[in-house]
Amino acid sequence: MPGLIVVGSSNTDLVIRVEKLPKEGETILGEELKTFYGGKGANQAVAAKKGGADVLFVTKLGKDLYGENYKKNLVRLGISPSGIMFDDKAPSGIALIAIDKQGRNQIVVSPGANSKLVPKDIDNIQDKFCSRRVLLLQLEIPLETVEHALKIAKSLSVKTILNPAPAKSLSEELMRNVDIITPNESELEILTGLDIRDLQKAEEAGKSLLRLGVSNIIITLGERGSLLINKDVKRHFPPCRVKAVDSTAAGDAFNGVLAASLCEGLSLEDAIRYANAAGALSTTKVGAQPSLPNKKEIESFLKI
Ligand code: ADP
Repeated sequence: MPGLIVVGSSNTDLVIRVEKLPKEGETILGEELKTFYGGKGANQAVAAKKGGADVLFVTKLGKDLYGENYKKNLVRLGISPSGIMFDDKAPSGIALIAIDKQGRNQIVVSPGANSKLVPKDIDNIQDKFCSRRVLLLQLEIPLETVEHALKIAKSLSVKTILNPAPAKSLSEELMRNVDIITPNESELEILTGLDIRDLQKAEEAGKSLLRLGVSNIIITLGERGSLLINKDVKRHFPPCRVKAVDSTAAGDAFNGVLAASLCEGLSLEDAIRYANAAGALSTTKVGAQPSLPNKKEIESFLKI
């Protein structure tokens, strides 16, 4: 089966639950430290792997304990180590997270080695693009690396998906190399500068991206499902009904499974159905990577 290439971030999340978030200058005691594997690139690569794709994940870690453990985690989940790189100097990407009793949080991210994933690294693995059907990217690595990977993929007729998270304004040149862009509503606001209050506004904003040269816009709408806009159709995909307990990584589940389904040769509309189900199922469990559903779970949920 033709595979997927994901180029993106890996972060180790260090989480401490606290009674109350600390004020400026305050030191407090919290519960025991918990460590989780995160980063949008890694989460989406794992979602795609669980969704049935053969995944090459291109990422950069630090030569430290976090980096070593992260690599072991990816390999344990069935991701090939051939795209995992190590930076000689930078530490691994880390997110320091404090969460209070009400679920409010304070997060500080140090991108570390993620910011050292440079265009030259993509050149070094360029031969691996040819055997892949789809490229999936996010924006937690340097923008010039995203631009470069998109250009190479386009020149080799590899389908490109950009999950523009965290959102920033993007050049028209970059947009022209994107086949499918998948913002949520707040990301769409940042991309277009438009205020999105309802579905109609979301549709208008989506159409403005079509004019910039993106072929397909899929707006993820959380518990309201998703909206596909291209030059031929505007179609709302209703949400799958679930009992949601934690929406962390719903977008990652959606993007990974969308990419995996397109690799498998599904039509865009069928791939969105799978992705909607994966996003919904991920909200029924706590956490990021452990909450991602596998293909069997998605298919039995969709009664396929
Ligand atoms: P992000 O995590 O990037 O903000 P969304 O919250 O839009 O992304 O979620 C991605 C997709 O996951 C949605 O388009 C939808 O299909 C699904 N989803 C998310 N939350 C729910 C929910 N509460 N019920 C059903 N589906 C959900």
